[in-house]
Amino acid sequence: MVKGTASIAINRVSPGNYLPGCVSLPSHYGTASWYRETTVKNIIAAVQENLETLDQMTGFTSSLINREVVLKPNLVLVYDRIGLARPVYPNTTDPRVIEATVLFLKRYQARITIAESSGRGLPTRSAFKLSGLARLAARHQVNLIALEEEPVNLYSFPHGKVEKSFLLPAVLERILQGEALYFSLPKLKTNLYTGVSLGCKNSMGFFPYLFRQRNHNFNLPEKLADIHSFIPPDLIIIDGIVGGEEQSPGPVHPVDSRIIISGNQGPETDRAAARIMGFQPEEMPLFQALDRRFPPATRVKTAGHAPVIPFRPANPSLHSKDFRRHFPRVLALIGHEREEEGLPMELNCRGGCLATTRLGFEFFRFEGIPRNFPLTLIIGRGLYDGENRYYLDGEGTLYPLEKIQTLPRPVLAIGSCAVQTCGHFASRSLKGCMIHPNSVHQSLHQLTGLRCRMLNPLAPAIVPFIKGRMSMQMRRFWQLARGQHLDYSQYLPEINSDFSPELDRGFLKVPLDPMDWKQRLHLIARELFTQI
Ligand code: SF4
Repeated sequence: MVKGTASIAINRVSPGNYLPGCVSLPSHYGTASWYRETTVKNIIAAVQENLETLDQMTGFTSSLINREVVLKPNLVLVYDRIGLARPVYPNTTDPRVIEATVLFLKRYQARITIAESSGRGLPTRSAFKLSGLARLAARHQVNLIALEEEPVNLYSFPHGKVEKSFLLPAVLERILQGEALYFSLPKLKTNLYTGVSLGCKNSMGFFPYLFRQRNHNFNLPEKLADIHSFIPPDLIIIDGIVGGEEQSPGPVHPVDSRIIISGNQGPETDRAAARIMGFQPEEMPLFQALDRRFPPATRVKTAGHAPVIPFRPANPSLHSKDFRRHFPRVLALIGHEREEEGLPMELNCRGGCLATTRLGFEFFRFEGIPRNFPLTLIIGRGLYDGENRYYLDGEGTLYPLEKIQTLPRPVLAIGSCAVQTCGHFASRSLKGCMIHPNSVHQSLHQLTGLRCRMLNPLAPAIVPFIKGRMSMQMRRFWQLARGQHLDYSQYLPEINSDFSPELDRGFLKVPLDPMDWKQRLHLIARELFTQI
């Protein structure tokens, strides 16, 4: 991690229409005419000027000598003609910003890797293809790694507040050992789970799916602080060419932000970016968790003007006017025993099933199909008065379990808490905290009988998606057949946290033996019969 005073560089990009090409590179990418386009020239110039300024402030390029750079973009879901109302949604790092960064870094270091694991259910190979990064990598001799296909190492991490162990793809161990640098390239955008998704949240995409799901609930801010403590980025370069506001990682609205923000300290850079978006970071649980662990720098040097470009916030609420306007016959019943002062009932557990539910409804909304269907949603274990359990609707009306069971409409129980209380009578139950990101959307189609338009056979993204899915699955089968561990399973050894952290930078690698044949076959079967 780059040490010392926090340094931040901010550059605005000249006015222009940057929306075309902000999600994926066009077919004429790499030609002379591509590089003559004003928008491309402006982005390259802005990124280079930004990084030169940051280098003058920090000297970070001297650390590039003899050290490979791992770039981590945010490719959670590449919204390029996937069958929704608009062709593109700026939810992922602009590939033009990634190329501009590669061009700058190539002056100092030839070994560059782009590593990512997209959202669960979305193969990273498809994301590389759809975004054009596969072509970019071939053009600039950059290594591409789809992390969900890579064997993992296990680390004990006793300092973690909620995560006492980590599984990290073995190919990233060189970052932990200081042999490679980790540069995070997030998108400037809001987020349903955490308010904003910037540098510190971007690290989540390094980890295997089941690790990501763990503590993906009210503990999410602390989990992200643990992740930042375990593997902090050496540099953050935030792509704000076209920002994304409202319901990310669902379809977002573009913001004409035209800004590049870079910095050498994650929380400080993210905090500056959140302020530029018009938010008060000190009021956001994510920054509160980061601040408790990484006190704000005593000195922050900023080069460039920090404007305020107001972003409309993400709102996971199912009781909001906005949600009820879009889905007038959906009754959301929520009951959490956990209560934090000043928070509305539903936000007492924001970072899991609530946000995923809203995400599923956003997909449905942007498919442009009728939304006037009746449905009851249940989230949480319910309030308990010693005898009965109750849920609340948006008006504060109490619904005892007996009443919910008599409602003449399908019931969808979302999250393990609700399934525990209502699973026995629900029409459909979705277990987990961070339930599969597509499961609510899928359930809505199944319960309403309305045909899904997303990734349908006519969507241009369908071919890369299917091909990527097959290749990813074959590669995962192959790794499992070799006895390699890919994610959490019952075949991992027990963690022994009893060691002196001074001996090993706060974490300890736990040796993993290859699995035996029975274990390998069991995990292959699990992949075959469950949605990964
Ligand atoms: S199941 Fe949902 S409500 Fe329950 S802890 Fe997990 S995220 Fe929170």
